[in-house]
Amino acid sequence: MWFFKKKKSNQELQNNPFYKEGNLLVVYLKCDRCGENFRSHLRIGYDFINDYDNAATPYKIDKIYVGSKCPNKIHLLASFSASYKVKSVSLDGGKFITKEEYEQKAQEKKEEEK
Ligand SMILES: [Zn+2]
Repeated sequence: MWFFKKKKSNQELQNNPFYKEGNLLVVYLKCDRCGENFRSHLRIGYDFINDYDNAATPYKIDKIYVGSKCPNKIHLLASFSASYKVKSVSLDGGKFITKEEYEQKAQEKKEEEK
């Protein structure tokens, strides 16, 4: 189960921000401008771009996220091996956060709304 896994260190997060959950890779982002948090579910077989010219990295993610609070665009680019191991990753306009950080913020928000 995921909650027995140890928390990703900052270094691990920069190298591989993705959490594998069954048929999904989940990534947590934070907007550089307003601090809004995002959670993105990337479905294997649906959300990945096939890069047939690149045998070492046949799968890619190229996505732009725009939040509800500001017009800042967050651009996620990543490439993956045939077994969905991360080979390269870059993020513009935001930064990666851990699942724990995302869930803590979501919890705090819930408490505020009570
Ligand atoms: Zn924002």
